Amino acid sequence: MSDQYSFQTKLLHNQHKFDENTGGVSVPIQHASTFHQKEFDKFGSYDYSRSGNPTREALEQAIAELEGGTRGFAFSSGMAAISTAFLLLSKGDHILITEDVYGGTYRMVTSVLNRFGIEHTFVDMTDLHEVASNIKENTKLIYMETPSNPLLKVTDIEGVVKLAKANGCLTFVDNTFLTPALQRPLDLGVDVVLHSATKFLSGHSDVLAGLAVTKDEELGNRLYTLQNSFGAVLGVQDAWLVLRGLKTLHVRLEQSARTAQTLAEFLQKHPLVEQVYYPGLPDHPGYETQSYQASGAGAVLSFELKDEEAARRFVNAAQIPVFAVSLGAVESILSYPTKMSHAAMPRKERYKRGITDGLLRMSVGLESAEDLIADFTKALEAAGQAVQA
Ligand SMILES: *Cc1c(COP(=O)(O)O)cnc(C)c1O
Repeated sequence: MSDQYSFQTKLLHNQHKFDENTGGVSVPIQHASTFHQKEFDKFGSYDYSRSGNPTREALEQAIAELEGGTRGFAFSSGMAAISTAFLLLSKGDHILITEDVYGGTYRMVTSVLNRFGIEHTFVDMTDLHEVASNIKENTKLIYMETPSNPLLKVTDIEGVVKLAKANGCLTFVDNTFLTPALQRPLDLGVDVVLHSATKFLSGHSDVLAGLAVTKDEELGNRLYTLQNSFGAVLGVQDAWLVLRGLKTLHVRLEQSARTAQTLAEFLQKHPLVEQVYYPGLPDHPGYETQSYQASGAGAVLSFELKDEEAARRFVNAAQIPVFAVSLGAVESILSYPTKMSHAAMPRKERYKRGITDGLLRMSVGLESAEDLIADFTKALEAAGQAVQA
């Protein structure tokens, strides 16, 4: 019914625009864990809330439609969604996975799945030759995250899908950084799209949630069985919060991405900034691919200062962003990968991946670009004093 609408309109005008029973213009929160069956041998649409709940289902249908899929699944966190999707694999299977994957996914693959006889190989997913040459006979899944964290490396999704299809592998994309507002991996042939809805989809740093979306009916049925079996479903209050956040996804991301572009260009010109990583900059190595497969570069960027002392002074002097892990919120979030997301990684490994002691990551919120630039100008002055000292 809403097929003719643009993405922006679809966020508001879908089958859950108002409640059929009351006309209420917000999805009702159904707390019931169990549902009365009206007849002895005929059951209603819902029986038990782990298996199906109307509030969670509203969110699941919304994300499925926005991603261009047929089935959506809501989980208690991004990691619950990702971990449940991994249960599509079996003992003896092999995963090809991007080397700069999210830390929680790294931990799941290297310290949990390995105990169940599921092998993995990390590859530079931006290099299709490396991907191709690491596909083994038992490779059943290629796992992508693009743009990646924290260096915003861009993977050619269609290129990887082609290799996967030729070798009978499934493909997953963690679409947390761009959301369906900017990138729709299912349209590019991907099998499962995964999200930490904790980030841009909900957008307000006030809920943990995860989502998975499939297009293929049989795969959707298998994932549904896993969601119901494993049971890490999203609670109804949290499902409502994500639905609420989704309504403003388009305006939030559009505004934040515009500011991110301005900020990236400002940082690129600043003499104290050694490197800026943002796929909206024409000299970013993934710029072409990003422009082809996504409709924007997103709201996350990273930049490199001289060393740890410069980064420390910058963080201490910056007033606007909160200094924290996480991203994708209305408020800007500044983080220090070396001691936050990548603290567990040995220095040598970190440096090999370009994650230096001077690297900072910025998730741009909804503050004015002028205010952010003024704040960063002062913070860079403070960082510069470290260089002179
Ligand atoms: C935060 C994040 C996750 C994990 O999601 P949680 O909701 O924290 O469990 C997975 N992937 C990416 C890219 C993330 O940023």
